[in-house]
Amino acid sequence: MYTFIKSIIHRIFPQWLIMKAEYMLRFLYSFFFRGTAVKCVVCNASLSRFIELPSGDLLCPRCGSLPRHRRLWMLLHEYDFLNNSIRILHFSPSRILRKKMQQLVPASYITTDYDPEAYTDKHYDITHIFEPPESFELIICFHILEHITDDAKAIHELYRIAKKGAIVWIQTPFKEGDIYEDARITNPAERLLHFGQEDHIRIYSVEGLSKRIQEAGFEVNILQFSDDKSLGLKEEIILRCVRPK
Ligand SMILES: [Zn+2]
Repeated sequence: MYTFIKSIIHRIFPQWLIMKAEYMLRFLYSFFFRGTAVKCVVCNASLSRFIELPSGDLLCPRCGSLPRHRRLWMLLHEYDFLNNSIRILHFSPSRILRKKMQQLVPASYITTDYDPEAYTDKHYDITHIFEPPESFELIICFHILEHITDDAKAIHELYRIAKKGAIVWIQTPFKEGDIYEDARITNPAERLLHFGQEDHIRIYSVEGLSKRIQEAGFEVNILQFSDDKSLGLKEEIILRCVRPK
């Protein structure tokens, strides 16, 4: 139902209007999810349930957050990163997290997306980031590297702009075993078949990506999280990469 209503709205109204009215539309739609069975930690809404998307992800009807956004929001609080003395660079943030972060830490939070039409502060190519060395205490890089052909260069750039002692949180889809990549597979349909999405270049394994990140100079901790249905969280892995002091 949610996907159907969303597709109708996108067919009728222009994108700029949808962006402007998104929070109001979600607020009205969440009326049908009144309840106390689950809670979204991003918008603090108590709900009867989350919306299950075709991908299996649980979407908050009130704010549009997904499990990985809710996990990230919890991590930002847990590690006390939400103050204006910490410079944060966030690659391709979700709209709701960008809005919340801009309200909380407006002076130190920079967003970036490669897509020139994305509503972010910058539009950096992750392999050529126009920032001076040692610029950030925290870099959030979720679901980016699997799109990047020269991922070694991207990781090197992350290392260059991270301050000594800074943390880079990295997440991608993972598989068991070795990294699966094949430079001969360039057709979108074939990429979907082999890598799970039309614009994915590879599928990492936790060990394989950790090794590539360590080769750039980072120390890597593998953070493993369990699911929590009442908070709409799922099992996931985030790589906590620290640039040594
Ligand atoms: Zn929410």
